[in-house]
Amino acid sequence: MEIAIIAHDGMKAGMVQFLNKHKDILINENIRLVATGTTGSKAEEAGFTVNKMLSGPLGGDAQIAARVAEGKTNMVFFFKDPLASHPHEADINMLIRVCDVHNVPLATNPATAELLLLAISQQS
Ligand code: PGA
Repeated sequence: MEIAIIAHDGMKAGMVQFLNKHKDILINENIRLVATGTTGSKAEEAGFTVNKMLSGPLGGDAQIAARVAEGKTNMVFFFKDPLASHPHEADINMLIRVCDVHNVPLATNPATAELLLLAISQQS
């Protein structure tokens, strides 16, 4: 199972906190992480192994959307900052749309991501 993690700048600390809180599930369920560049670097600093794409504003969101479309990424944790505007809004909306087109679970906040991880751990 491959999960993509993306966090806008205001949400990166929260993403790292989330990953640390759920380290056991992430490791035990054999989950591969793919991430946009800077989010991936933060996760690596916290000790996680991550397949890093480009930074979001440079096309990383689009790369992850492509992985979703190709069936490589099975779930997306996209911690969007609802209080900031983003130069790559078009890519953000495209990623959300591609997840909907392919019926891929997409969590846009930690509470939803936590429920998805719980579902994974209960399935096995
Ligand atoms: P980043 O990209 O992880 O490279 O900061 C996230 C985004 O802004 O979409």
